[in-house]
Amino acid sequence: MQRNQLMVVYGDDPYTMVEMLLQKIKPEEGLPRTAKIGLKPNLVLDKPASSGATTHPELVEGIIKYFQARGYHDLRIMESSWVGAQTERAFQVCGYQELAARYKVQLIDLKRDRTVTKRVGTFALEVCASPLEVDYLINLPVLKAHCQTELTCALKNLKGFIPDAEKRRYHRMGLHQPIAHLAAVLPTHLTIVDGICGDLTFEEGGNPVPMGRVIAGRDPVLIDAYAAALLGLAAEEVPYIGIAAGLGVGADDLAKAEIIEFNPEAKPAQPFRWSRRVQSLARYVDEREACSACYGSLIHALHRLEEEGELNRLGLGEKAIKIGQGFRGVTGEGLGVGVCTRGLASSVPGCPPTARAIKEFLGKRNRK
Ligand code: SF4
Repeated sequence: MQRNQLMVVYGDDPYTMVEMLLQKIKPEEGLPRTAKIGLKPNLVLDKPASSGATTHPELVEGIIKYFQARGYHDLRIMESSWVGAQTERAFQVCGYQELAARYKVQLIDLKRDRTVTKRVGTFALEVCASPLEVDYLINLPVLKAHCQTELTCALKNLKGFIPDAEKRRYHRMGLHQPIAHLAAVLPTHLTIVDGICGDLTFEEGGNPVPMGRVIAGRDPVLIDAYAAALLGLAAEEVPYIGIAAGLGVGADDLAKAEIIEFNPEAKPAQPFRWSRRVQSLARYVDEREACSACYGSLIHALHRLEEEGELNRLGLGEKAIKIGQGFRGVTGEGLGVGVCTRGLASSVPGCPPTARAIKEFLGKRNRK
């Protein structure tokens, strides 16, 4: 897998989705059987993955089984939950204690880890020792929004590799600079993003938006540039992406990325239950058999427009935006999202379009 490639698998079963990705990537090539393999889920707090906050344990299970079946037996799940939460409680509630016991995998609470000082530029950063001791580090963030940095995905998930005192200090430093510099001292070999149902607004969950995909890549900066677009953001709106690119951690130019979708036909249907917040945005949507990957993009786009004070100015009525496979072949007046609605007078192309593309399309209507 080249560094400029991003691989996407659609579905709603993270176990089989990650297996499909690993079979394509073949991360074991050139990796000795004795290698220490670190797995870093996002267990920011003790809420299950269905809340939109944490990494699905089934995704991690798929990775463990893949490596164990190929003779790798030194796997370690590592995390330090956010300040105020107990990692051990998160391990238990999120299903990782049971997972680790079943597969005889180490579970490391990094709040108890020793730390070392790493220097990059003018920054001296305290980093937990265990992640630095592995031979192959797999970052497993959730694709979700963040109330301060807008996005939390590959780069910000590395904050779980620092002690609580550093987490507080990062906030005093404005987050972006230290997050970018941390990525420079903690290189990851592979990032696999849990894009099943990350949160709409906050990293602690509560408003999960099904996006029905798992994304893999070797370049965490490129992953975050793509993740930003999926949530309706320009990469410049998440300053740590550009800072990390400037430090040589990776590339932030999505135009040079090769995005490979393995099963575009397998986008799952969207579920029936939404949080109240998501329901409030969904009132503008006329949905007929929409894939969750498409519907989720639209919800993120509407949220961004609302945040920027643009949504009301659009003057959308209830069910004004049409989306879903039920609109295939439908022609006439109307505003649609996705290629299924291309027969309508106005339609956002893509299958699925990113939230960024939808936001820009709708935003242009305001500027006309
Ligand atoms: S455009 Fe149609 S087929 Fe493609 S993701 Fe959207 S709803 Fe699904």
